[in-house]
Amino acid sequence: MKHFPIFLAVEGRRIVLSGGGEAALAKLRLLFKAEAQIIVFAPSPAPEITNWADEGRLTLHRRAMAPGDTAGAALFYAADEDDAEDARTAAIARADGALVNIVDNLGDSQFITPAIVDRDPVTVAIGTEGAAPVLARSIKADLEARLPATLGTLARLGKAFRKAVEVLPMGRRRRDFWADYYFNEGPRAMDEGGEEQVNGTLQTLLNKYETAQDRDGHVAFVGAGPGDPELLTLKARKALDAADVVIHDRLVTPEILELARREATLINAGKEGFGPSMTQDEINALIIQHTATGAQVVRLKGGDPTVFGRLDEEIEAVEAAGIAWHIVPGITAASASVASIGQSLTQRGHNASARILTGHDMKGFADHDWQSLARPGEVAAIYMGKRAARFIQGRLIMHGAARNTPVTVIENASRPDQRVLATTLDTLAQDLDAADITGPALTFYGLRPRAAQAQIPQSQQELA
Ligand code: SAH
Repeated sequence: MKHFPIFLAVEGRRIVLSGGGEAALAKLRLLFKAEAQIIVFAPSPAPEITNWADEGRLTLHRRAMAPGDTAGAALFYAADEDDAEDARTAAIARADGALVNIVDNLGDSQFITPAIVDRDPVTVAIGTEGAAPVLARSIKADLEARLPATLGTLARLGKAFRKAVEVLPMGRRRRDFWADYYFNEGPRAMDEGGEEQVNGTLQTLLNKYETAQDRDGHVAFVGAGPGDPELLTLKARKALDAADVVIHDRLVTPEILELARREATLINAGKEGFGPSMTQDEINALIIQHTATGAQVVRLKGGDPTVFGRLDEEIEAVEAAGIAWHIVPGITAASASVASIGQSLTQRGHNASARILTGHDMKGFADHDWQSLARPGEVAAIYMGKRAARFIQGRLIMHGAARNTPVTVIENASRPDQRVLATTLDTLAQDLDAADITGPALTFYGLRPRAAQAQIPQSQQELA
C-alpha cells in the first residue's frame, strides 16, 4: 500500500483550491460533502463557481494564487489543468504547510482523493492508487446499490444512543446489541415507522440486552478451502462474520483471514509438518479456554476439516468439556487440484475409485496397500507427499507399478502462485527435488494434466 487511508478532521478548517474550469468543478462538488471552509482562487471562474460563491458555499478570489494564500489550510488542490501553473501553486501551498494534491498528477501529489460512498456519518472511501479509476467507479456503484440509503440515519441515531448503551458490560454483550440494531431491528423499525420508531426500538432493544443471559460458547470447525477466498462456502463466510475468536492453521491464507470479523481475535495455531509448533493438547486447551467465556470460536482449517485435519481429537476434547460444536465442510486440496489440471477424480471407464492417502502419519512415512495401488489404472490423491515421494516411488515400483505411470504434483492449488509439475513414477523424486516446491503440494498418482498448463520437467521434455 503506497497510500494509507485515513479520515482527516476538516470541520471548520480551510481547504484551498486553485482553478476555475472542469477539474475544479469536479473536485468542488466532492468537497462540498466536507464541513470545511472552501476557498477558491480563479482569475476566470466557471459560472457554477460564481453561483456557489453567491450562495455562500465557498469564498471566491478572482485572481491567481499568491504566497501566503494557503497559510493554515489543511488541504490544497491544484486544479488549473496547466502543468506550470499547478507546479507554481503547489509550491506555494507546500511552503505554507498544506497537504497538496495536483489533479491528474499522482507522482507530485502528497495525497489522493478516493471515490466516496456517502452515508454520513458512514463513509466508504475507495482508492486504487491511480491504477484503475474504472474499477473504483464500479466498486462504488456496487456499494451504492448495496448500502441502504437509511444507513446514515441509523448510524446517526445509534451514535446519539451510545451513552445509554454503556449500561451494558463492555465486550460481547455490547457488540451483540449493536449488531442486532444495525442488521436486524434498526432497518426493520426504519421501514415501519421512520426515525421515531428507530428511537423506540433502541430503547426496547437495550432493555432486552440488559436482562439477557450471556450466550453459551460454541465451536465451528470450518473448512477454509485450498486458499482462493472465492472457494469458501457461504456458511464458512457466515461463521467468519460471527466469530469472536478464529484459531487457524498454517494453510489458511491471509486473504481468507481478512474476511474474519474485524473485532475477532486471530490466533495462529500453525503446525509445520515436522517442525516445532503448538501441540494438539495446547490447541484443544486454547479452544476450550475461549469457548468457556461464551465466545463463538471458529476453528479454521485449510481445505476440508475432515481430511487429514486432526478433527477428531479436537471434537473429543470439546465434547468432553460439554461445548456445542458443528462442522462446516470445505473444498479439499484434492478437489481444487484435480480441477486445476482439468481432470476428474473418478472417470468412467478409467478409474472407478480414487484413494485419499497421506504421505506421512504420526509414525513417519505412512504404509498403504502398495500392491493394490500398483495395479494399472489406480488413482490416488496423496496429501503431505513431498518428503515421502522417494519412499512412495520405491514401494510402488517394488510392487510392480509401471514406471511410466503419470504422476502430477500441484503446488498451491487455487492460489495465484499455483504450479503444476507433470512427471512419472520413474522420475517423481528427482523432478520434485529439482522443482524446489515450498508451498503445500498435492501429488496425484495415476493422473496427468489435461490442460496445457503443466510445467514439463527436464527429464520429460523429450516426451512432450
Ligand atoms: N484438510 C486439508 C489437508 C490438510 S493436510 C484439505 O482438505 O485440503 C495438508 C496437506 O494438504 C498439504 O501437505 C498438501 O498436501 C495438501 N494441501 C493443502 N492445501 C493445498 C493447496 N492449496 N495446494 C496443494 N496441496 C494442498
